[in-house]
Amino acid sequence: MATDETPTDIPCSACRGTGTVSSNLGGERSELPCPWCEGRGLRLGPEHNAQAVGRGDQPPDQAA
Ligand SMILES: [Zn+2]
Repeated sequence: MATDETPTDIPCSACRGTGTVSSNLGGERSELPCPWCEGRGLRLGPEHNAQAVGRGDQPPDQAA
């Protein structure tokens, strides 16, 4: 029952394969599920666009 998707063996660079990203909001550290890989820790296809996939330096704004 394997879905025939592109092999995603590339660790997400945004979260370094952890599946979570820490952001400093108001000086408070919180861990959020990585929007780039949806918390999987593996990089999704290039079609998967988080809000602003640039360098992963800026924490994504909550738009959902
Ligand atoms: Zn990620």
